Amino acid sequence: MRAAIFEQFNGPIPVVEIAEPECPGDGVIVEIKACGICRSDWHGWNGTDPDISLPHVGGHEFAGVIVETGSDCTQRQIGERVTAPFILGCGICGECQHGDATICDHQHVVGFSGFGAFAQRLAVPHADFNLVQLPEEIDFVTAASMGCRMTTAYRGLVDRAQLQPGEWLAVHGVGGVGLSAVMIAAAIGAKVLAIDVNDDALKMASQLGATATLNVSNLSNVGAKVREITSGGADVSIDALGITATFHNSIYGLRKLGRHVQIGMPLGEHAKPDLPLLDLVYARQISIMGTRGIASSRFSGIFGLIADGKLDPGKLITRQVSLDQVGEVIKGMNTYTDHGIAVVSQF
Ligand SMILES: [Zn+2]
Ligand SMILES: [Zn+2]
Repeated sequence: MRAAIFEQFNGPIPVVEIAEPECPGDGVIVEIKACGICRSDWHGWNGTDPDISLPHVGGHEFAGVIVETGSDCTQRQIGERVTAPFILGCGICGECQHGDATICDHQHVVGFSGFGAFAQRLAVPHADFNLVQLPEEIDFVTAASMGCRMTTAYRGLVDRAQLQPGEWLAVHGVGGVGLSAVMIAAAIGAKVLAIDVNDDALKMASQLGATATLNVSNLSNVGAKVREITSGGADVSIDALGITATFHNSIYGLRKLGRHVQIGMPLGEHAKPDLPLLDLVYARQISIMGTRGIASSRFSGIFGLIADGKLDPGKLITRQVSLDQVGEVIKGMNTYTDHGIAVVSQF
């Protein structure tokens, strides 16, 4: 089958013929119909993600059709339209049984700890537990845009921070996951301040439901400005990028008792912030929480927002590309100029 392959870090990503994946006993083979290209793929390609060993096939936001089922997979059918979270739980440990597959000790991370979906077909283990059947009205490309960014934003805001209608959310960094957070927050009736250094990204945030925007290119005290715009500080604030500057801006922009959620993956030398334990955590009593991915059981919450007409993930898709263009899209992320989501739809 054809797959776009990382042969060296920061190198070209050629499309080559590789062996067909083997169907796990409790898993399935999915024929990939669409796969989003995410900043975490870029981290994998540039060598900062510790899980990646070469050669590697990335791609973790996939949707497709089941073409083979293993002998121990009892609840899935050939022909079923499916997607899955990028963190696949074992399905049997205590965490998985309690709905917390994202912290499963035996997790399989699609496109990181194993090959991903920048390929014609993908093996998905523990398929009864991890796969999510797609509602008829959600097409493959839209579903692929949700596998990481939209679902990660949903869990961070709804399940972790418990963002409420009418509260202020500050979003630091409006790339794919930041824009997803803007859309989720708008869908549940929160007020959103979108923050970035790029006017085009901020314009897109406005179009997707941000109440206000702030360009911080030439701003030294971002936290104070956020507290001013939000009349005392954000109730919830997210670092959607994962670097020291955006983390600090996020926690300093919170109101007392505010909740910070770390959504951007903090990798490398630019993500080693100190923590103002006395001034913020103790005195202002802020909360700092992490979030990563979502469990398959929680997709229903997002499907509900879509069915109610409150959320249209398709608005985030700016272009559809072929497998041969994966390399140029990932390389293009070096500059942070691309907004919205690119989805591979031709394999
Ligand atoms: Zn587990
Ligand atoms: Zn991702």
